[in-house]
Amino acid sequence: MSKTILLIEDDSSIRRFIAASLSGHGFKALEAVTGKTGLEYLRSHHPAVVLLDLGLPDTDGIEVVKRIREWSKVPVIIISARGQEGDKVAGLDAGADDYLTKPFGSSELLARIRASLRRLGTKDKDSPIFKTGSLEVDLSKRHVRLGGHEIHLSPIQYRILAILVLHAGRVVTREQILEEAWGPDKDAGLDSVRIYMHQLRGKIEKNPLRPQYLKTELGVGYRMITDEDRI
Ligand code: CA
Repeated sequence: MSKTILLIEDDSSIRRFIAASLSGHGFKALEAVTGKTGLEYLRSHHPAVVLLDLGLPDTDGIEVVKRIREWSKVPVIIISARGQEGDKVAGLDAGADDYLTKPFGSSELLARIRASLRRLGTKDKDSPIFKTGSLEVDLSKRHVRLGGHEIHLSPIQYRILAILVLHAGRVVTREQILEEAWGPDKDAGLDSVRIYMHQLRGKIEKNPLRPQYLKTELGVGYRMITDEDRI
C-alpha cells in the first residue's frame, strides 16, 4: 500500500509540483487548500506525513500545527517562503518536525519525507548510544567520544549536545536549546547559546567553520547530522 502524504497548501502551482513529485515516487498525495480541510483530512485519512504551508487562506499554519499536536504525532514538515525565519521557529516550537524553504527541489523534499518516516519507524529502538560519523555519545554514561578518544565537555556543553542528539536529524531552535539546557531560571540569553555552540564545535568538529555534525540552520537553530543525512 502506498503511503499517503497530506499536502496543505493554497498555491496551486506549488501543490501540482509537489503532488507530481510524490506520485512519481510511490506516494499518494492528498491535497487540501485550507487549514480546515487539512485537519479534516488528517482525521479521515491518517496520512503518514503532513506537508504544511504557513500562509493559508483561512488560518495561520502555526495554528494548524497546534491543532494537529493536540492529538496526533504525525510528522509535520513546514514548507515556507524564504525570509520567514520567525515563522519557522514558531512552527517548530509549536511541534512541527522539520521545514523546507521554498523554492526547493523534489529530491530535497523526498529526502525530508523519507527521513521523517525513518524516524517514526525507529522511535521505539531505545538505545542510549548515539553514533554519527566518528562521534559517539553515550547518554546513559554521559560519555562523548570522537574517533574513540574521550572528549571532555562542561555540563552545559554536554547538555546542549545531548539535546541535539535526542532530536538528531531534526532542527532544534535556539530558544528550545536555551530553555532545555539552562532551565526556567536561566540567566542566559540567545547569545549564550551561540557562544556554547562555538565552544562545542571547537571540541567536536575537525573544522568548526565547516561543521560535519552540528549544522547551523540560519535564523532558526541547529541540527545534529545523522549518518542517514549523509547518504
Ligand atoms: Ca500560501
